[in-house]
Amino acid sequence: MTEYDWPDWMPEPVRKELSDFWTCFGRTMADWERYVETTVPGGMAAVGSVRTIYSSGGPMTGRFVPAWNNMARVVWDDGTVRYGSFEQIGGVPTVSKKEWLDRGIVLFGPDMDGWRFVCPSCGNVQSVASILAVAPELARDDVKAWIYCDCQGRHVEGGCNWTLGGLLRTHRLEVVTADGSVVPVFEFAGG
Ligand SMILES: [Zn+2]
Repeated sequence: MTEYDWPDWMPEPVRKELSDFWTCFGRTMADWERYVETTVPGGMAAVGSVRTIYSSGGPMTGRFVPAWNNMARVVWDDGTVRYGSFEQIGGVPTVSKKEWLDRGIVLFGPDMDGWRFVCPSCGNVQSVASILAVAPELARDDVKAWIYCDCQGRHVEGGCNWTLGGLLRTHRLEVVTADGSVVPVFEFAGG
């Protein structure tokens, strides 16, 4: 493993991961420091500070170690290491599915038909209930499957025909599901 002035609290496996990633293909630990300075809110001062990251198991709080891209670890005092993602400078915020659902309930209540989403392209605000009001012939389950990622104009009158399934990445929020996959979503109205 590369000689580096590792902080005392950083467990061996984390040092090894960083070292393995950042010292191959001609990279050095200075590149990790540059990555931290340019990508992580707070820069190098953030390393080791107590922060919350997002994982499929929910938010995890501990000593913060940005690893690469938007991936980070948090380290607990007993040496436990947890994996997750963090909000990058200029990046797309990520929340766990549970956090996302909790937020929806806080904003709109437990009935998901009333959850209102904003199209990032045209600003249209839509919910399952608002769609079924203008297009009662649609199946509720079908509407539920696209209400958070397609503008209503793709399916019914109104809005535009934007979809987050397209190539242009305009979303401002990503949800991480239990199996670790990332789903771009429309933001909640007023959220
Ligand atoms: Zn739209």
